[in-house]
Amino acid sequence: MAKRDYYDILGVSRTASETEIKRAFRALAMKYHPDRNPDDPNAEEKFKEGKEAYDVLSDPQKRAAYDQFGHAGVDPGAAAGGGGFGAGAGSFSDIFGDIFNDIFGAAAGGRTGNRPRRGADLRYNVELSLEEAVFGTTVKVRVPTLVTCEACGGSGSRAGSRPNTCPTCRGAGQVRVQQGFFTIQQTCPRCGGRGEVITDPCPECRGEGRVRKEKTLSAKIPPGVDTGDRIRLAGEGEAGEHGGPPGDLYVQVHVRPHPIFTREGDDLYCEVPVSFTTAALGGELEVPTLDGRVKVRVPPETQTGKVFRLRGKGVKPVRGGPPGDQLVRVVVETPVNLTARQKELLREFEKTLQNGDKHSPQAKSWLDKVKDFFEDMKF
Ligand SMILES: [Zn+2]
Ligand SMILES: [Zn+2]
Repeated sequence: MAKRDYYDILGVSRTASETEIKRAFRALAMKYHPDRNPDDPNAEEKFKEGKEAYDVLSDPQKRAAYDQFGHAGVDPGAAAGGGGFGAGAGSFSDIFGDIFNDIFGAAAGGRTGNRPRRGADLRYNVELSLEEAVFGTTVKVRVPTLVTCEACGGSGSRAGSRPNTCPTCRGAGQVRVQQGFFTIQQTCPRCGGRGEVITDPCPECRGEGRVRKEKTLSAKIPPGVDTGDRIRLAGEGEAGEHGGPPGDLYVQVHVRPHPIFTREGDDLYCEVPVSFTTAALGGELEVPTLDGRVKVRVPPETQTGKVFRLRGKGVKPVRGGPPGDQLVRVVVETPVNLTARQKELLREFEKTLQNGDKHSPQAKSWLDKVKDFFEDMKF
């Protein structure tokens, strides 16, 4: 899944000032902040996307890198480094914060009686190497979560005691309030609509019935996943309330850039240097693939940019189907550190090139290309 342009996300021009960027982000944050959109999962995505764009564009150094190299210049995965999976300390604490915001937001928003409530879904970002994504792996996922309090079994009352019927509403959860000529029903302010009050709260969870705990899970990542894929661990999210089912945990996959291969869909791309004599005379080339080295025959008169396709050497897609291909782009290398003798040979060789066009297929159309280039450019 390609990342959107940071300027597009914030809706500002590439020449926007710092103030314009700040203003655009503030407007976006007001609109999509998860606290304001508790029931809209897209809002959280949008908010995070906006925050990422803002983090980069508000930092002059990161912005310059982004302007020059695009996402590759500021990819948090590329910068984080370090082995293993790990979501990086920064992003982990971000998730931590967001999750607890969600919990507190939900708690403040609505305790609607004793109805069972499904626990919240959680999301965990995991960073994988290309090899891990292609061949599959198992990652340890540490998630802060709310689990049912063991001491009170989730009731919130000290072991051995029971919640009492709310004296204000007598267990109804609603109270009638006289207002002028009308009698209106309101959620009971004493028990928050639960119908009962905890008189002797459980010391472990302070009457909440759930406790915060970091749990470690093993998530199996199937072979073939790519950035943007997510793996659902059913029932591993937050514990439900009042006997409600737990939420799910989604492991969101991000694949780090690879030093040799880039992936597009199920195809892998790589560049391989080839000496100019091999390129001219033909020969064999050793090419790395994800399952070992293979030999590729280079025909005579091979030019830089020529792409060889290794069928089936790409990625086996996670959703089934035939594997992709590996595409190898050759780059003809100019020899360096030449001795006097080698230079002499090259000069001698140069003299034999009487007719430049005959031996240089690209030089012919080069002037035309230069002309087109200037015509296409809009100043
Ligand atoms: Zn408890
Ligand atoms: Zn009450």
